[in-house]
Amino acid sequence: MLKTAIKTKAYAATASGKNLEPIEIERRAPGATDVLIKIKFCGVCHSDVHQVHDDWGGAIYPMVPGHEITGIVESVGEKVKGFKPGDRVGVGCMVDSCGECNSCQAGEEQYCEKKMVLTYNDRELDGKTPTLGGYSDKITVDERFVVRIPKGLPLDKAAPLLCAGITTYSPLMHWKAGPGKEVAVVGLGGLGHMAVKLAAAMGSKVTVVSRSFAKKDDALQMGASDYIATSDAASAEKAKNRFDLIINTVSSAADMNNYLGMLRRDGVMVLVGAPNEDLPVRAFSLIPQRKSLAGSTIGGIRETQEMMDFCAKHNLGAEIEVISIEKINEAYQRVLKSDVRYRFVIDIDSLAK
Ligand code: NAP
Ligand code: ZN
Repeated sequence: MLKTAIKTKAYAATASGKNLEPIEIERRAPGATDVLIKIKFCGVCHSDVHQVHDDWGGAIYPMVPGHEITGIVESVGEKVKGFKPGDRVGVGCMVDSCGECNSCQAGEEQYCEKKMVLTYNDRELDGKTPTLGGYSDKITVDERFVVRIPKGLPLDKAAPLLCAGITTYSPLMHWKAGPGKEVAVVGLGGLGHMAVKLAAAMGSKVTVVSRSFAKKDDALQMGASDYIATSDAASAEKAKNRFDLIINTVSSAADMNNYLGMLRRDGVMVLVGAPNEDLPVRAFSLIPQRKSLAGSTIGGIRETQEMMDFCAKHNLGAEIEVISIEKINEAYQRVLKSDVRYRFVIDIDSLAK
């Protein structure tokens, strides 16, 4: 039987930096191992803004952004084992990988040696079909890349966990945040605020490093026990040679040597923020106290499910401002001004209007 494509409403950018506008796209009818999801919410990540503006190069238009997707399973292919219609599910930043390489076998599909297929602004493993993201009514995804949203987590507050949550959970786990560790989170935005909540729930002592004092009360409420404003010399002084682990979420070019100066002996700073500019690092920012500079991207599917379950257990969701899809261009401007507390989430039902 020929399976017909499913027509789906969406919002897309048609060229670099252009405002997003309504568009109609097609989703594949679910194949044997696919899950068709009715999207309910989609978070707005700073990566969406970078990619719509082609900050990283190679952008594919029309681009339907969105990789913090939650929704309800509408139908499943005949070989799907893990999901059934009505299930509450999420999809994050990737929708496929080779499944065979060392990284995929280790459950680290985000480091697939052949190709991780991004949820949007990418091409499927066939090298041709463009992928289109979650600012849309429905999506078809192989069940290997679908995660379960536990009962206690509302779908709107859970959406940002699919990127902001896992992107910070994974390095916190890898570099062993927990009791006895001093963790600093640089930048209190979408990723940063989840890093604070997660690191605190893991038992670490958490300090937020922000540019001003504007977000101090919020940071303390999220679980930070200290707060540094880099614009204030006396405050910045208190951050020197102090942290075991820094999760750096800064989205535009900033002086990394300053932040490296905040690490203690054997400390590690992990870049998750992804400005496209070179970030010059002095050798003497690393050598004297045996410091390390590292990077990390999202997390594997198994770890994403683990993070979801951890959030449900600790009652952690994102701090969100729910918007209707018509407000998306305004929201992008506010993301660029760091004027978001702390994640925009699109109510996808607003697409129908
Ligand atoms: P966001 O909500 O805009 O937060 C970024 C924060 O960085 C801002 O709130 C601000 O914090 C700080 N900041 C921005 N410009 C700065 C500057 N020039 N100097 C110092 N601090 C600055 O963005 P997000 O959604 O959390 O994403 C953050 C970055 O992570 C983006 O580049 C995104 O593309 C990247 N990302 C990477 C991955 C990955 O897999 N590695 C996944 C998702 C996102 P304060 O106002 O507190 O100073
Ligand atoms: Zn993201």
